[in-house]
Amino acid sequence: MYEEYDFIVVGAGVIGPALAKGMSDRGRKVLVLERDLNEPDRIVGELLQPGGLESLKKLGMEEAVEGIDAAVVEGYEVIYEGERVHIPYPEYSPDFDLAKTTQLGVPATGRGFHHGRFIMNLRKIAREQPNVTMLQATAVDVIKNEETGRVLGVEAMVNGEKKPFFGTMTLMCDGTASAFRKQFTYIKPVIQGYFVGMVLDDVDLLRPNHGHVVIGAGHKPILVYQTTPTEARILCDVPPPMPSASNGDLKRYIEENCLPRLPKQMQPAFRKGLDNKKLRSMPNQYLPATVNKTPGLVLVGDAMNMRHPLTGGGMTVCYNDAVLLCEMLGPQSVNLVDEEQVAAIMKKFYQERKAKSAVVNVLSVALYKLFSAETRELKILQNGCFGYFEKGGECVRGPVSLLSGLLPRPAVLFYHFFAVAFYSIYLNFINKGIVGFPLALLQVFTVLYTAIVVFVPFLVRELF
Ligand SMILES: Cc1cc2nc3c(=O)[nH]c(=O)nc-3n(C[C@H](O)[C@H](O)[C@H](O)COP(=O)(O)OP(=O)(O)OC[C@H]3O[C@@H](n4cnc5c(N)ncnc54)[C@H](O)[C@@H]3O)c2cc1C
Repeated sequence: MYEEYDFIVVGAGVIGPALAKGMSDRGRKVLVLERDLNEPDRIVGELLQPGGLESLKKLGMEEAVEGIDAAVVEGYEVIYEGERVHIPYPEYSPDFDLAKTTQLGVPATGRGFHHGRFIMNLRKIAREQPNVTMLQATAVDVIKNEETGRVLGVEAMVNGEKKPFFGTMTLMCDGTASAFRKQFTYIKPVIQGYFVGMVLDDVDLLRPNHGHVVIGAGHKPILVYQTTPTEARILCDVPPPMPSASNGDLKRYIEENCLPRLPKQMQPAFRKGLDNKKLRSMPNQYLPATVNKTPGLVLVGDAMNMRHPLTGGGMTVCYNDAVLLCEMLGPQSVNLVDEEQVAAIMKKFYQERKAKSAVVNVLSVALYKLFSAETRELKILQNGCFGYFEKGGECVRGPVSLLSGLLPRPAVLFYHFFAVAFYSIYLNFINKGIVGFPLALLQVFTVLYTAIVVFVPFLVRELF
């Protein structure tokens, strides 16, 4: 006889423990299988946006950011060709609609932390739940009913032995390199480049407790954010093909293309890091959400949907999804074996998650394109985007509310993106002057076309 669970959660990374806790809160029996229960050491998932923190609170897991020496994040400092603009997070209260109310008196904050410490806290909270069992086991296969195709559970390696585990539903959260994704969707992730980075000690930040985004017409974006009050993660965007780390090409690339772009006061910490620490890298991938139709299985987290990490939105999407999924699938009134009922719930889930995830996902990809500025038109848009932020007021509050995951309104994103495009065109006329007027006039069309190409296909793909 095998023990039967309501849910098998594969993967105890960012989303797995949250799903386990949320389902357990609703009286569901949950088994979590994680291939390595030791503290992970990765360069992902270290900045949690205010919107993600709000969702973590809804899941009753906000203590996961406590006791890990996390840094409070109050917003961003964007540095463009040596000039700076401050982008504080908006004032926020869960009871108010950010699209209508501006003065709430309480500035929203995010958190920067060591990924591994945060994950260990999440796992601890999940394990403490009465209905949750967590095992170190590597899922190697899904068990299916050959006749109906329904997923019945997974086979997993436990201490070198293959064992079957049965659950009414399997929540597959095995992350970015999901071994199971390809069995359930034909859509493949697209690598957009790599983040290469390290932890910097005692870096002299321009504005402590703020993420720093360094952009410029001649280089790829660089991100720096605190992971503790005294440490900061630096992530440099490196386009493919990745220079080899083993022969020193990667270090040379970073020394030549990234180190000199950092504000002067931040350079010594990076120089010291380059001399003493190893560079680490991760691919940055985009994967539109998959609407999974296999009965008995749901792909979640990065296994289902990925965006560019430039805007630090991955965990926010995960926790929004976890809240929704637990509220919709968790209640005892849901008969998990009733395929029609579950299919209807899942349809609603994909519909409802769209607004929140689309804003974070599209913004990440569009901002990455603007901040990388590989063409003349994108450089004009990059310059316009910075100018737009410099105007302050709603030109800062709107975009940062979207980025922080607090304002899930695709229409507001559309408005600000095209406001940036038109402002870029206006600035281009000013910069080119009378002599350059004919060229600026021609570029009205090419810049607008570029803005549409950068933005609209992603928005359509995410929303429909
Ligand atoms: C370079 C980079 C930086 C990022 N920075 C941020 C950031 O600052 N803020 C942010 O919000 N997002 C960030 N992200 C995105 C964020 O890390 C992901 O969205 C998030 O980790 C996804 O969570 P997940 O639970 O789906 O996957 P993961 O967190 O990767 O967890 C997957 C888990 O599944 C386990 N697993 C895998 N295979 C198996 C198996 N066969 N059996 C059992 N267990 C298995 C793994 O060990 C792991 O514990 C970043 C991404 C990248 C690439």
